[in-house]
Amino acid sequence: MPEVLARLCKDLGNGTFQCLVCPHRCVIPPGATGICGMRENRGGKLVLLSYGKVSSIGIDPVMKKPLYHFWPNHLTYSIASVGCNFRCPWCQNWPISQTTIKNYSWHLRHMDPELVVEEAKSYGCMSISYTYNEPIIWFEYVVDVAKLAKREGLMNILVTNGYATDEALDELCKYIDAANVDWKAFREEVYSKYIKARLEPVLHATKEMKRRGLHIEITYLIIPTVNDNFDDIRKMCKYIVDELGPDTPLHFSRFYPEYRFLDVEPTPVQVLEKACEIAREEGIKFVYIGNVPGHRYEHTYCPECGKRLIARFGFEILEWNLREDMTCPECGAKIPIVGRYVVPPKRPLYGVF
Ligand code: SF4
Repeated sequence: MPEVLARLCKDLGNGTFQCLVCPHRCVIPPGATGICGMRENRGGKLVLLSYGKVSSIGIDPVMKKPLYHFWPNHLTYSIASVGCNFRCPWCQNWPISQTTIKNYSWHLRHMDPELVVEEAKSYGCMSISYTYNEPIIWFEYVVDVAKLAKREGLMNILVTNGYATDEALDELCKYIDAANVDWKAFREEVYSKYIKARLEPVLHATKEMKRRGLHIEITYLIIPTVNDNFDDIRKMCKYIVDELGPDTPLHFSRFYPEYRFLDVEPTPVQVLEKACEIAREEGIKFVYIGNVPGHRYEHTYCPECGKRLIARFGFEILEWNLREDMTCPECGAKIPIVGRYVVPPKRPLYGVF
């Protein structure tokens, strides 16, 4: 496979490049890589090491992203490479996110964009999701696959930490339809202490995606002792209402010990419930709890009359009570859901392979 050049970079002279894909804006001298480890200054060029190098493929229900208000129940062909521009010590996907191309090379499969789109269609998927590791850092590949997918009638979904520059979004947002943006905290100190990044660019990028017409849902993994401060959660909810709108679905997700956070207890369910109450008090209309299968906050309720409109268990829809025009059958309230309920094809099995 020939070298693929990084498309968003600035030549600073003296053989040094600056990458413009994410707000780290790494200055990369000859022989070095940026923070994500995926962009290398090699032979006077900035090269994307991960182009087409796929670590994981899954045929997932869209609820798993999680996207609850976007073409509900459809299957999405999910792909990932390796690496990340964040350093979260609780990362649930750390074997692929906190490694390098070299260390993971045995597990990588090369896939041209044409093959990704062809496979997605053959499994009856309606979209392609760029997920599991941070998709922004293999930007050029995502753009190429997404462009082709769009041409072939598929939608595109980003599952992202939101650390993207305006330059990257200018290109990406032409092809991406929806994004789940994972906010790690609502406090700069958490971003600087644990993640080695900044919150403000994440908020900016989320607003930019929304402004450019993407369907947006927010995930917030509540980690005891890190980001479980209720004042911060309240501030975040106010921010969502003011800047993204009260219809923006918000997913509070339960933490389980992982990676370097093996000594931290799982999030108490009462904390997740309290966060949901705060979100509702602040005016967020659709708030969910993730990673607690069977919890009542997995369901969608009408914000006007309280009727249960969609019942879920894990990634399954058990009950669909909305009218075809996405209104509540009880009070007629319009429910902001993009697309329609989809009956997926029977053949594919869920899972990562
Ligand atoms: S994508 Fe971000 S972390 Fe990676 S090289 Fe570019 S600026 Fe640095």
